[in-house]
Amino acid sequence: MLYHSTRSKSYTADSAQAVLNGLAPDGGLYVPASLPTLDVAACLKGSTMDMATDIIGAFLPDIPEMDTLVKKAYTGKFETEELTPTVDTGKFTVLELFRGPTSAFKDVALCMLPQLLTKAKTVKGQKEDILILTATSGDTGKAALAGFCNVDGVRICVFYPDGGVSKVQRAQMVTQEGNNVYVCAVEGNFDDAQTGVKNIFAAAENGVLPGGKGHRLSTANSINIGRLAPQVTYYFKAYADLLHRGVIKMGEQVNFSVPTGNFGDILAGYLAKKLGLPVGKLICASNANNVLTDFIQTGTYDRRRPLLKTISPSMDILVSSNLERLLYLLSGDTELVASLMGQLNKDGFYTVPEDLKAAIDAEFWAGCCDDAQARKTIAKVFREQNYLCDTHTAAGWAVAEEYTEKTGDTRPMVVLSTASPYKFPAAVLSALENADGMDEWAQMERLEALTGVPVPKNLQGLQTKKELHTTVIPKEEMLPFVTAL
Ligand SMILES: *Cc1c(COP(=O)(O)O)cnc(C)c1O
Repeated sequence: MLYHSTRSKSYTADSAQAVLNGLAPDGGLYVPASLPTLDVAACLKGSTMDMATDIIGAFLPDIPEMDTLVKKAYTGKFETEELTPTVDTGKFTVLELFRGPTSAFKDVALCMLPQLLTKAKTVKGQKEDILILTATSGDTGKAALAGFCNVDGVRICVFYPDGGVSKVQRAQMVTQEGNNVYVCAVEGNFDDAQTGVKNIFAAAENGVLPGGKGHRLSTANSINIGRLAPQVTYYFKAYADLLHRGVIKMGEQVNFSVPTGNFGDILAGYLAKKLGLPVGKLICASNANNVLTDFIQTGTYDRRRPLLKTISPSMDILVSSNLERLLYLLSGDTELVASLMGQLNKDGFYTVPEDLKAAIDAEFWAGCCDDAQARKTIAKVFREQNYLCDTHTAAGWAVAEEYTEKTGDTRPMVVLSTASPYKFPAAVLSALENADGMDEWAQMERLEALTGVPVPKNLQGLQTKKELHTTVIPKEEMLPFVTAL
């Protein structure tokens, strides 16, 4: 199946090559030249892994043996065979995306990506080993390490800002086992780490570092179509659950509220709708970094504002890369997308034409939720629904409530839950009671005692696990660090 860049139809690749390349040569993102078709009713009858096989296979038909790859990716890695369970809270349905090996929604895609990459490498006859480089503000790093750990032909190196991630997140990364994983702290903030990674890519010729060991460089971030396709599955899974519970009949529409950062999660919902799933409104929930709220409400995307540090760090973002894919999918106009992205790069903002704004309005709704409101929401949902949610999910819940109140829309609402509350124990506990003067490990224990919600296995006993990766380097030394791997 043919993919091309969002910025030009002349940069094409088949689906296997698109997974290997990640980004198109002109800086655009790969989009399918025409969307695949799927027998939705048949797909909804299968297990979650059957759905994944059908859906990922439909998007990536040039990668063979999809059923085997899906089984390898997911079997035994999640808390439940259904991978992404739903919970009827009495108000909204919560779609729990955090039951994977690192308790973050990114596991759904990052368990699958290594299988897709290594198979694509075989199909395309690429001989060199792959070296994945990732800068992380916390969640992506651990999910990528767990996904790529001990995968043949691939090595992975994660950089995180020294002192810039939570204790739980640091412990998750520095205790990572595996013969092909490297973790390194960088003196500086997340932007320093990210810029360092970009500089390493810039120093490479044809993806290979001069003086390095001949690996082909690649990334695990959510611009890769191989990360997006696996996320479409859980929209189908949630819909199937509502059918089984008798909440809806086949064909009735369901709304989804999505805590959003890079726009990958919610874009997967739009792709599910394009495949024929009866999706109603897609509700884009942001935190105080409300660039997307402003964009969806006004049609102007403006990144010229400070980046705020919030209690939902995975949504602290000013440029949402996957939005570019939506602009193309709704307009079909690569020249327009190239021009808007050029303006964003040069001037820091752009405004979409009227017809594109109208197309966005038809599918999306947006709202934002600051830290104070997120804390209030965590407390309220726990009190009224006896459901404990994390800080990102709280934003999704709060904006879903705002949407329902403002529009009177009565279609069933699914709130996507993107992290375990135990990944952010300080913020979650402080929403329920005073949590001052405790370290994160004590806060986890207290949260469990207070709520009765068990700490996920992978987060238990982290503080006593052996630290395997303790290197800290100045940002100038990132390139030599990687060359020596
Ligand atoms: C990555 C992440 C998000 C945002 O998802 P996008 O696909 O980047 O929009 C939300 N919540 C959590 C916990 C995440 O890790």
